[in-house]
Amino acid sequence: MEIKISKCAAKCHGCEQEFVHEQKVHSAARIEDDSLERRDYCADCVPKDKDPALFCSWETQFNDPKVLEAERQETLSPLRRLFYDFADSSARADMAQAFLAAQLLKRQKAFRQIRESEGSEDTGRVTLFLDRATGRLIETRDLNFSYTELDEARVLLLEKLRLLESPEPEQPSAEVTDEEAPPPEKEPETAVEEPGDEDQ
Ligand SMILES: [Zn+2]
Repeated sequence: MEIKISKCAAKCHGCEQEFVHEQKVHSAARIEDDSLERRDYCADCVPKDKDPALFCSWETQFNDPKVLEAERQETLSPLRRLFYDFADSSARADMAQAFLAAQLLKRQKAFRQIRESEGSEDTGRVTLFLDRATGRLIETRDLNFSYTELDEARVLLLEKLRLLESPEPEQPSAEVTDEEAPPPEKEPETAVEEPGDEDQ
């Protein structure tokens, strides 16, 4: 006999409190009109009396689909992982890569730009992003990165992305990742026109 039973409810059958992620849930299957009806309870509402219609009962853990999706997004997206690695660093080269990664994530609609402030000479331009998948708020700083710095950051970022996406060195996927990278011309405010400034 195939057992057809619904998924865990989002709230307790007794008190109607919504379950939280990883909360212990007491589930019962009852026979009602020849089919199995599922009831999920929090620890306080588990029925004490013997239920003659009880088919079986078990304990489980409630998994919030929103939390699971957020975790999946965070682990599945190599770009997002790279961004969070760089975001904690205060090294200028890492901050340039975090800045670029955030721009790419914004373009992918993974990040939403919340606020941009001019900042100061020291802090640079500060941009606040909302990570749509995880609900995290995070900021990047544009320390007036030069064209050369951004271009180096782009090359390093793409190389790390390539390694994350295809760990086997014999399978380069540079063509795929290249499409996601903003070409250097897209940063006109930092582009260097004068030929004498190449060594900055
Ligand atoms: Zn309850």
